[in-house]
Amino acid sequence: MTGTITLTMIKPDAVSKNHIGGILKMINDAGFRIKAMKYTQLSKEQAGQFYAVHQDKGFYNDLVEFMSSGPIVAAILEKENAIADFRKLIGATNPANAEPGTVRASYAESVQRNAVHGSDSDENAVIESDFFFSKVERF
Ligand code: UDP
Ligand code: MG
Repeated sequence: MTGTITLTMIKPDAVSKNHIGGILKMINDAGFRIKAMKYTQLSKEQAGQFYAVHQDKGFYNDLVEFMSSGPIVAAILEKENAIADFRKLIGATNPANAEPGTVRASYAESVQRNAVHGSDSDENAVIESDFFFSKVERF
């Protein structure tokens, strides 16, 4: 059983507050398998490309600034029903609306500085995974 994949990032706010370990524990406890992982920092160009789907939104420029402001952890996670189950684990985009016990309820500061990314579809999980990882970086 190989399951399906989702792409996550532990965002600069959570990394700077030493929440990498806490978030990875929640991910492992929820049954996700780590298929690939790296610690890196996005350039503004890379952050802009990753979030290009949001380029017409009012929050885009601030989002690109924030996402390139410090290191992140990027990972491909594998599980049955990975997209929906991971979105459930992380909670709503705005932590004020996130269910108690979710990653964002536990660690997010604001709608922008919301601790983690999770892919929104199987198609985007593939695109986002290819953005960060080559074939030989996946196990
Ligand atoms: N974001 C923001 N302001 C908003 C909505 C979103 O700064 O009003 C940021 C936030 O960091 C969010 C990211 O843009 O995680 C992508 O937005 P999306 O709607 O795709 O939310 P997600 O899929 O991450 O829950
Ligand atoms: Mg999204």
